[in-house]
Amino acid sequence: MLWLALGPFPAMENQVLVIRIKIPNSGAVDWTVHSGPQLLFRDVLDVIGQVLPEATTTAFEYEDEDGDRITVRSDEEMKAMLSYYYSTVMEQQVNGQLIEPLQIFPRACKPPGERNIHGLKVNTRAGPSQHSSPAVSDSLPSNSLKKSSAELKKILANGQMNEQDIRYRDTLGHGNGGTVYKAYHVPSGKILAVKVILLDITLELQKQIMSELEILYKCDSSYIIGFYGAFFVENRISICTEFMDGGSLDVYRKMPEHVLGRIAVAVVKGLTYLWSLKILHRDVKPSNMLVNTRGQVKLCDFGVSTQLVNSIAKTYVGTNAYMAPERISGEQYGIHSDVWSLGISFMEPLQLLQCIVDEDSPVLPVGEFSEPFVHFITQCMRKQPKERPAPEELMGHPFIVQFNDGNATVVSMWVCRALEERRSQQGPP
Ligand code: ATP
Ligand code: MG
Repeated sequence: MLWLALGPFPAMENQVLVIRIKIPNSGAVDWTVHSGPQLLFRDVLDVIGQVLPEATTTAFEYEDEDGDRITVRSDEEMKAMLSYYYSTVMEQQVNGQLIEPLQIFPRACKPPGERNIHGLKVNTRAGPSQHSSPAVSDSLPSNSLKKSSAELKKILANGQMNEQDIRYRDTLGHGNGGTVYKAYHVPSGKILAVKVILLDITLELQKQIMSELEILYKCDSSYIIGFYGAFFVENRISICTEFMDGGSLDVYRKMPEHVLGRIAVAVVKGLTYLWSLKILHRDVKPSNMLVNTRGQVKLCDFGVSTQLVNSIAKTYVGTNAYMAPERISGEQYGIHSDVWSLGISFMEPLQLLQCIVDEDSPVLPVGEFSEPFVHFITQCMRKQPKERPAPEELMGHPFIVQFNDGNATVVSMWVCRALEERRSQQGPP
């Protein structure tokens, strides 16, 4: 075909590209892109995320000349779609026809809520670096699309979080301490995760918890969940954090080492960051490692407030499979104990808890995993806390070094595929 021979669309370089994002049962949003040929898959998902903030979009589709739907999940597939689209544009130009926008159909894991979005337009200014922060055209209601990150930070970090501004949506899960909800923050138009914990404590203790949580505003690492604020209403505290659309690692099936390796790198970096602030995590386990469709991995639920940890512990006393032996037997807790939990999080807890205290550490089945991986886990799970790797040794371990290449696409693709698989098992939403 002609368009294949044309290379990187020379005639199209300066063309404005209009992408029409079709919304199931709800119309469409037109997105104007000023440098279409450089557009990346991630840019498109980001804009879809702003148009459908409540849905988790993992891929999108377009229609070929026969009306068959073709799925786009990567930059390569994006290129193929753009090549195809530009070829149809050329044909329309040659025939003197009106140029049709490029229609795409988001594949969301959750349906969008009932919102009237007819006639909304998104406009991205020229320049490739602008793709990921589309400017919103003036006609938009102020909270229908994402605000600039500076503006958001101001709204969210001003201690202005309150119950009235939050609309609770789905339940994301229950833990021992409370329940986590997906929620919509009206003033910012942002989706949050809100953890609600019932606590029958005095006003004095409530104040102490709030001041202990202050340090979370200062946590600024891409490996730590973003904190937006907390508030008490009657006998419950709500803690508002960044929503991670991939959920926690405990619900993912066994993953290949090159995916797990990248996740481990992020977890080690997150822990190293916390330790540098003199914060021990104290609850390292897969359900406190969150992932998203961008391929980011972030830690949550670390023990920054002693009072909060103590108050929750009053209603729940127990051990879990990820706790270090010295903790189970009531000895001192330190960085080394976090390191043990890190190790065991990345292998199946094969043995009973008692074995961890009394017998040898569990080992990974021989032959199934690479030598550096087995060594990494074995070192983290040395019975003697002092024999476990220190933070800088973790970062320098061959298993971590091998996967410390900043490749988020590997995790992103894994998360997207897993979400799609889950959706297809659950049937249509
Ligand atoms: P525990 O109470 O023992 O720590 P847990 O970590 O499973 O157990 P919660 O912290 O209450 O319990 O979390 C419940 C579930 O909510 C998690 O398993 C996770 O799947 C989900 N979740 C928590 N925080 C977020 C978030 N920021 N974004 C998306 N999902 C989240
Ligand atoms: Mg948790």
